[in-house]
Amino acid sequence: MKDKSTELELISVTKRYGTTYAVNAISHHFKPASYTCLLGPSGCGKSSTLRMIAGHETVSDGAILLGDRDISKLPPAKRGTAMMFQNYALFPHLTVTDNVAFSLKMKGTEQKQRRAAALEMLELVDLTNLADRLPDQLSGGQQQRVALARALITRPSMLLLDEPLSALDPFLRIRMRTELKKLQQELGISFLHVTHGQDEALALADEIVVMNNAVIEQTGPARDVFNAPKTEFVARFMGGHNVLALPEGHFAIRADAVGLTTADTGKLEASVTAVEYQGTHVSVTARGMGDQEITAVVADRLFFDNPKNPGDRVGLIWEPQDLHKLAN
Ligand code: ADP
Ligand code: MG
Repeated sequence: MKDKSTELELISVTKRYGTTYAVNAISHHFKPASYTCLLGPSGCGKSSTLRMIAGHETVSDGAILLGDRDISKLPPAKRGTAMMFQNYALFPHLTVTDNVAFSLKMKGTEQKQRRAAALEMLELVDLTNLADRLPDQLSGGQQQRVALARALITRPSMLLLDEPLSALDPFLRIRMRTELKKLQQELGISFLHVTHGQDEALALADEIVVMNNAVIEQTGPARDVFNAPKTEFVARFMGGHNVLALPEGHFAIRADAVGLTTADTGKLEASVTAVEYQGTHVSVTARGMGDQEITAVVADRLFFDNPKNPGDRVGLIWEPQDLHKLAN
């Protein structure tokens, strides 16, 4: 679906708190009806960016366009966005239905219509049978669905989610992320999901926007960002990569693209420093040229056909096309 109204564009958006830049002149065009993850370490400016889009934080400089409207000065309820908060922020004294219907009550929608709309949303998140409960009679996962329904009842063109899975246990986190993705596809609206977890971003995102130190480091489809990091920061943050200093410059190479051979036949001779069994794979770390540590992740069968131990001399091999040159 291609709907103009869901196209979000940030134009040189800045957030200053006193003299610190939480967000420094970021520009990005978010694709319509897609799942985007804003990914980066704690303190890099993700929440500030999201709050500026939602209207919970003023913009110091720049413009935010949704569709062709500049929404950067509109109150939150007039923007066409809705936000789901990290702690869900449910009203403890209101039932599930009343929590979900809350924004409609604020708008003056009459009771019967509010209830019907809330029940429709509860059905969407599979909570119909808990409609009359209070928030503290719900599990974490159920509270989260209520928060989702409450955000979606305003029929936003973009749903903003700030670390929505971080309060859940690992098992539930994976289940909920599957549901978020499914919901986004069913509704056909854009989700912008803030996370510091690269695995979460890879699992969910059509597009990943990597932030670091108040700026955007790299953007692209999840697979491109993972496969071809452009900076050392992105390579290290995404994980699973080595950063190699070669005579031609710095390169990223996936650990599973590095292979082991005999010491005299590899591209790089190295001495094994650690061997870690990981079930399906074995991670072999070796120190070579210039004391660099390089990790090769080898399929378990391949490794046990020819096991290595710390202290062994090995050759490291790779295909030239697996090297990705990093910007300095
Ligand atoms: P993230 O969500 O990526 O962890 P934030 O956007 O919350 O990052 O914060 C970015 C930077 O802005 C941090 O250095 C943080 O300390 C600072 N910051 C965030 N909110 C405020 C605030 N209300 N007042 C002052 N500094 C803030
Ligand atoms: Mg944050």
